[in-house]
Amino acid sequence: MFCNQCEQTAKGQGCTVRGVCGKPPEVAALQDLLIHAIKGLSLYAHEGRKKGLVDPDVNVFTVKGLFSTLTNVNFDAADFEKLIKQCADLTARFKEKVAAAGGNVEFSDPSASFQPARDLEGLIRQGQEVGMASDSSADADIQSLQQALLFGIKGISAYADHAYLLGKEDDRVFAFIHEGLAALTDKSLGLEDGLKLVLRCGETNLLTMELLDAGHTETFGHPVPTEVPLGHKKGKCILVSVTT
Ligand code: SF4
Repeated sequence: MFCNQCEQTAKGQGCTVRGVCGKPPEVAALQDLLIHAIKGLSLYAHEGRKKGLVDPDVNVFTVKGLFSTLTNVNFDAADFEKLIKQCADLTARFKEKVAAAGGNVEFSDPSASFQPARDLEGLIRQGQEVGMASDSSADADIQSLQQALLFGIKGISAYADHAYLLGKEDDRVFAFIHEGLAALTDKSLGLEDGLKLVLRCGETNLLTMELLDAGHTETFGHPVPTEVPLGHKKGKCILVSVTT
């Protein structure tokens, strides 16, 4: 396995045996495979938008799937097996719609024609072959931008998934996620293009945080200073540390 998506990463370089977070190598492979599958889905979703096709199921699945690969969110291999197969089904269905609308469905990237293995062991093997998402044949700066874009999109997806659960969504967010992931399959993408996408990723993240903020305040009200019990007692807790 190789994962360097968070600040906990081993030796500041990458977790290679097991995640410092506890992520087992089999789950790392399944997460890599899910990202690969979602890149394929994104190619069709991005193309579909050019033809006026927007599918709420594709949008919601995309952010849920990406969010599930963030640190400490989900280590359940069976969940990833379901998500990967669900992604392949969604992709096949949406590809048909894009083709019927006259959109391009001829993509050379392997993610566009991904077919999941039948069982969990086969999926893990596929994930090991796919590996981490950046293009290892690309220039080091391009790879850095690819990783910044992917990790940025994962962060946006976490906010977008939460906002959606609170009744807030904006197709500009889903559209950017699909465009950004589709761009990760484009080997002709240069430094300038990558930089522009990363900057737009930051802008889209702000938009998504606004959605989440509106969802929170409309659901739970504006946060106000509130007295809470201090000290400790037996049981589970949330630790809050304050530096002044
Ligand atoms: S998410 Fe887990 S496996 Fe990945 S870098 Fe962070 S600690 Fe390591």
